Parts: sequence; C-alpha cells; structure tokens
Amino acid sequence: MSVFSHPDFDSHELVVFGADAASGLRAIIAVHDTTLGPGVGGCRMYPYASDEAALMDVLRLSRGMTYKSALAGLPLGGGKSVIVGDPRKDKSPALLRAMGAFIDSLGGRYVAAEDSGTAPADLAVMAERTRHVSGLAAQDHAGDPSPSTARGVFLGIRTAVRHRLGADSCAGLRVAVQGLGHVGFRLAELLCEDGATVYGADVHAENVERARRELGVQVVDPRDILSLDVDVLAPCALGGVLNAQSIPALRAGIVAGAANNQLSTPADGARLAQRGILYCPDFLINAGGIIDVHYQRSGLDRSGLPAHIQRIQDNLEEVLRRADSEQRPTDELAEALAREYLQPGAAPLRATA
Ligand code: NAD
Repeated sequence: MSVFSHPDFDSHELVVFGADAASGLRAIIAVHDTTLGPGVGGCRMYPYASDEAALMDVLRLSRGMTYKSALAGLPLGGGKSVIVGDPRKDKSPALLRAMGAFIDSLGGRYVAAEDSGTAPADLAVMAERTRHVSGLAAQDHAGDPSPSTARGVFLGIRTAVRHRLGADSCAGLRVAVQGLGHVGFRLAELLCEDGATVYGADVHAENVERARRELGVQVVDPRDILSLDVDVLAPCALGGVLNAQSIPALRAGIVAGAANNQLSTPADGARLAQRGILYCPDFLINAGGIIDVHYQRSGLDRSGLPAHIQRIQDNLEEVLRRADSEQRPTDELAEALAREYLQPGAAPLRATA
C-alpha cells in the first residue's frame, strides 16, 4: 500500500496508523493542512473492504475538510480519521478509549467530530482519553448542524439556478433529492417552501414516508433517482455517486447536494463539465455544518451564522464566473480558490463574522 505516491496524498502533513490489539482498534488519522488551524474533521467508523479503501477515504475526506474550512473562512485546518470496523458489531468502550488515546497522541493537531458510524456518545467515551474532540453537548452547546448544512446547499442551488436558468427562485423547478436523512429532509423542505416540485428517494422506507406525508415529496425508487428528468439533482446520501457509469445517464442540468466526495475520481468533474452539467462542488456548498460547529465550539454569537453561511453564495458565484471564463471544471476551480485562501494575508470575498 503506497502512501506518499497515493493519488490522493496531496502533500498531507501527517498520516498516522494506529492499532490496539486489546480492543481491536485499527484506525488512520490524516491531517492534510494546518495552515489556518487544527485539522478538525469527523471520525468515521466503517467496515472498509480493505486497508487501501480506508486510506483512500481518509485522505480524500481530510483534504476536503481543508478546502471546506478555508472557503468557509474558518480558522480551521483539514483532518479526518477512520476506524476500520462495523459500528454495529465492533464498537466497544475499550475501542473508543483507545481511539481517544490515539487522537491525544497528536497533541491537538487533529480534533475529532462525529461522522457516519460515530455519535456524540462515542465521542464522549473518546473524551475520557483526550480533550481534542468536538461535538459534546455539555462542552459545546452542541446542536445538530444539519439544518445549517441544508441551508448552505439550498443557497448553492439558488445560486446555480440563477446562473444557469436566470431564475430568482426554485418556483416551478423539479429537484431530485437522493437521501432524505438529516440534511436531505431539511433541504427538501426548503425547496418545497421555495416552490419546487421535489422528488425524493431513500433506502429507509420511514424516511421517504415522512417526506411524502409532511412535505408532499414525490417518492421515487432509489435506483431511478440519479437519472430522473429534473432540473436539479441533489445527492444527499453517499459519496462516489458521480462516476463513469452514472454521469452519462444524468438528465439534470445542475448537480448540487450535501454528500461528501460525490465525485468518484477527479476525472468525473471533467466528465460533468464535458456534458455541460453545472456541478456545485460538495466541499463548497455543504460547509454550513462545519460553520455551525465552529460557532458552537467557539461560543460565537449565533446571530452571525446566517450571514456567514451566505458566504457559500459568494464563493460559488466566483467559481462559476471562473468556470465560464476559463472553461475548466468547477471542482478544480473551487480547490484553486480554497488554496488562494490558504495563502498568507488572503482575504475572503466578503467580510464575515
Ligand atoms: P443521514 O445518514 O442522516 O442521511 C443519509 C440518508 O441517505 C439516510 O436516510 C439513508 O437511508 C439514505 N441513503 C443511503 N443510501 C442511499 C441510497 N443508495 N439511495 C437513497 N438514499 C440512501 O446523513 P446526513 O447527515 O443527512 O448527511 C447526508 C450526506 O451529507 C452525507 O454524505 C454526509 O457526509 C454529508 N454531510 C452532512 C453534513 C451534516 O451536517 N449532517 C455536513 C456535511 C456533509
């Protein structure tokens, strides 16, 4: 397994492998860039099929956190951790404590938050061994950040719709939402309030039923949602959904959703651009959650939160303007803009809280 020559290595500052035989812990912590602050990012627990799959996931996710926080104007760097294992079978207090000790060994260069496969209660167990965790209710006044994530994605959709269709709202548009979980449900609600017809799919029947009953979402089979004939597709379930197989079948002119790492490979950004599909980079428009978490952790006045989330629009407008003039994929341009923010003295597009 190569690390330094891995296609997703991208000059990571730190990639550390940790194991604890007694508890069965096998984990990787990746810290991509701490120019702006400690690498803050979720701790994911997942039954990866191979060590290579775990490494690829942690590298791509931690790099995404660097760019997400930089674009969001936050004093945070990019980091992520993964625990190899099935959260339903392999999680134990001993394993979580061992993970806490592993996180602590980095002295604060990485700060863990919850992610898929971990919950605030798990972070509380890790916190018995380290103070470098966030998202603990008592410590952070934590609330669920997903409404802020949904708000940012909605603003991204509005921006893309204005840019591509010249419309000031989603009234009369058809939007497909893949995944009606924490973010997807709230996004569907905002879209319905804005006058869109929302089509939704989820692998959990109760989630689809709730969206149908409470919002009037039109239910679609999960196998059909990506290729539905709609104006906007919003992937809010899984990563890797935009790939060589799915992209040729897309019928939406705009793709804008919350899921991290929607592009399966960097080539998929170019594939979307070649098809004339306007792709809103995930790490740019799903930053509402990390902005919210930062407000919680820092005790900032939450009245500044909506204006801060608005910044997503400014960044996306800039990326779309550059994409038009330079004829390059939006994901590349969003990364380039984020790297500009990592330069000393860089100023955001608009002053924020
Ligand atoms: P969630 O687990 O609450 O919701 C995901 C939903 O997708 C679930 O209801 C699940 O049943 C559904 N799903 C899974 N596979 C599916 C499939 N093949 N087809 C249709 N539906 C499927 O997660 P969430 O918090 O809503 O986050 C959604 C995505 O956004 C994730 O990729 C997450 O990493 C990303 N994200 C979330 C936040 C946040 O604030 N929660 C912030 C940034 C990014």
